[in-house]
Amino acid sequence: MKVWIDQDLCTGDGLCEEIAPDVFTLLDDGLAYVKDGEKVLSDPGGADSLAPIPDGQLDAVIEAAEECPGECIFIEVE
Ligand code: SF4
Repeated sequence: MKVWIDQDLCTGDGLCEEIAPDVFTLLDDGLAYVKDGEKVLSDPGGADSLAPIPDGQLDAVIEAAEECPGECIFIEVE
């Protein structure tokens, strides 16, 4: 399972980072990005930057996707 964020729709409220800080982070541009371990996938971001969902994080990622006001967190089944 992988996850990505459509930054074009992100409102920058930071809910995803609050719910799953191991997977999501906000950068100085005010938008949220996914992380692959310590690496922030901000180049390029969007659909081209899919991060693997770490063990034990799936429920939090699903909750973040459900709560995301921009509806811009997408979970991909491999
Ligand atoms: S919850 Fe959604 S809209 Fe809010 S910062 Fe995260 S990705 Fe952006």
